[in-house]
Amino acid sequence: MENSNMKSVMETYKRLNIAPTEGKGSWLFDEGGEKYLDFIAGISTNALGHSHPKLVKAIQEQAEKLIHCSNLYEIPIQAEVAGMITDATDFDKVFFCNSGAESVEAAIKLARKHAFMNHGEAKHEILTFSKSFHGRTYGGLTATAQPALQEGFGPMPEGFRYAPFGDLEAAEKLVGPGTTAILVEPIQGEGGINVAPEGFLEGLRELCDENNALLIFDEVQTGMGRTGHLFAYMGMGVVPDVLTSAKGLGGGFPVGAMMAKEECAALTPGTHGSTFGGNPLAMAAVKAVLETVNTPEFLEEVRFKGKVLKNALEDLARRTDGAEVRGEGLLLGLDLGEDMGPKVFEYCLGEKVLVNLIGGTTIRMAPPLTVTRTEVRHALNTFRGGVDAMKAIEMPEAAVA
Ligand SMILES: *Cc1c(COP(=O)(O)O)cnc(C)c1O
Repeated sequence: MENSNMKSVMETYKRLNIAPTEGKGSWLFDEGGEKYLDFIAGISTNALGHSHPKLVKAIQEQAEKLIHCSNLYEIPIQAEVAGMITDATDFDKVFFCNSGAESVEAAIKLARKHAFMNHGEAKHEILTFSKSFHGRTYGGLTATAQPALQEGFGPMPEGFRYAPFGDLEAAEKLVGPGTTAILVEPIQGEGGINVAPEGFLEGLRELCDENNALLIFDEVQTGMGRTGHLFAYMGMGVVPDVLTSAKGLGGGFPVGAMMAKEECAALTPGTHGSTFGGNPLAMAAVKAVLETVNTPEFLEEVRFKGKVLKNALEDLARRTDGAEVRGEGLLLGLDLGEDMGPKVFEYCLGEKVLVNLIGGTTIRMAPPLTVTRTEVRHALNTFRGGVDAMKAIEMPEAAVA
């Protein structure tokens, strides 16, 4: 399909020539009747796949009752969903917004306000990490320690320091009495599916405790069952003070949340807000997703499918020079290097298996959490087929032998 009909849309995305108009489960369909296995799910967003009956019904029923209601009033379904979240996590207070970047903004503001109230203005620094991604707003973008993404948008807001991801010693040197928070993705998503090395998150927790700073986990991508735990921190044994969520939270419906422990819930009336944040329609979506995802059986099945996929990808990586598999649960990256990565990505597209290429080297997989075991096998066969086809091109004599 030609992209010419997109000419009035601002070109902030490099789009593929695919135009899905319908979805069912793990599959997307275009108007020409072509079908695609969606192994990226809106980048970790369509947690329940497409047109999940429970999610559709929840949104339909709520739309008929009340779509929007101002935060000037009490919103019973917002209170109910906040309670579901605090019951399911280590947090006591939830602020709702509409996207990941907004949840990060809320976390940054909360951390600064918390430090300001307890220690005064001098304590305002926020430490983040190389290859991080925290959204496109000025706060989120400044926290995003990727010079290429910040270029041309200066001056950036002050008060951010950056350390290499995984380097605890470097972090120690940058943290002190002036630090208000450390903001980190427990598994970096956009940066390449980078898992924090052993001891790193524990070390950051200690650094925060020693310096009266808040530990903020950005779980916009890793949350809502993606790693086989409701939030990734629950499988890691490190509890942050603040957590940001979006992407899978509404199963594709735009909604974000910032959660905090009671002691640091420093935002008070008039200090923060969002017109649409926590609206009844979004809350109905979150409720349906939470009820579906947050059961031991569902999360167990995510871990199982993730393990099957990861084991098979690791086999594939072992017989491929320089390849590596990273990630947890159903958030996995197959790093094939600069040469093979893009080629295998193209192969997958040709086979109508949708994944995403990050950093020019890594195939990112984030299928719907409801993906079936058969669909996982289908995707695996495609990845194997892609790697084998590229090897055959590179070493034709070996393929013949
Ligand atoms: C996607 C993402 C964001 C930004 O979310 P938006 O909804 O696009 O604003 C922030 N942090 C992380 C970790 C993300 O993956």
